[in-house]
Amino acid sequence: MGIQEQYRSEAASLLSSGEVKLVIGFGAGSTADRRRPLFARTGEEANRFVLDASCIANLSTYLLTEGLLSDGKKVGIFLKPDGIRSINILIAEAQLKPDQVVILGYAIENGQLTALEGRSVADFNGVNEKIRSLALPPAVQQDIERLEAMSPVERFQFWQDQFSKCIKCYACRQACPMCYCRRCIVDVNQPQWVNTSSHTLGNFEWNIVRAFHLAGRCAACGACDRACPVNIPLRLINARMGREVREAFDYFAGESTDQKPVLASFSKDDPETFIL
Ligand code: SF4
Ligand code: SF4
Repeated sequence: MGIQEQYRSEAASLLSSGEVKLVIGFGAGSTADRRRPLFARTGEEANRFVLDASCIANLSTYLLTEGLLSDGKKVGIFLKPDGIRSINILIAEAQLKPDQVVILGYAIENGQLTALEGRSVADFNGVNEKIRSLALPPAVQQDIERLEAMSPVERFQFWQDQFSKCIKCYACRQACPMCYCRRCIVDVNQPQWVNTSSHTLGNFEWNIVRAFHLAGRCAACGACDRACPVNIPLRLINARMGREVREAFDYFAGESTDQKPVLASFSKDDPETFIL
């Protein structure tokens, strides 16, 4: 039995047995290489799940749909390592309860699909080398290194050029599982903290504020830059911030469900190189 059939059958039995009320996975998309979210509530619907190397979206964002988990029932969900990291961060931030999620984990390595062992949140909690090693695709790592090789002036120009394209559609925010605030700072208009029109200063404010908001919280899933209609490589800035946090505080976001948020906690051993 292939992985797709195995997971279809697992999803169907989770639903038929009543262990979960819903399974969130992937269905066929509008083109052969696109997949769209599929929400199955019966074993029969689970037969429509598709699982292949095109299933790249981080579905964890749907778990935060208002009211979905308020009845205390469980939901099953197809997740790659970045989605599992997201779940761990959301639990650490008290947005999810671990016993409400059944993880149908899989990984895509060099275009090949593999099944991940474990179904409960606890199975993926704690230092997990598999999750660490698959968390940042090599292409993103290479792009970060290309940016690092630039002079500060060149790098600033790079981001200025990129952010100047922003049309403030906020699709990046909507796609991101970590952007769960019911009212975002950019939607507050009394006072208006961040200018909502598309111009250089406001675009910088929005994108830098968001990058700082995600520092130590980003799961590097890339949902933001896939959602961006003007192709700003948002994952690069968030992944770079993630690396900064890792190097400074030995903190890998999403590794465990009881991590304290890195920028909201303090240890007397924290580096203080910013103090001159
Ligand atoms: S900031 Fe982008 S890459 Fe990071 S978790 Fe959000 S959507 Fe994923
Ligand atoms: S998705 Fe892209 S264009 Fe839209 S607000 Fe985010 S960065 Fe700007």
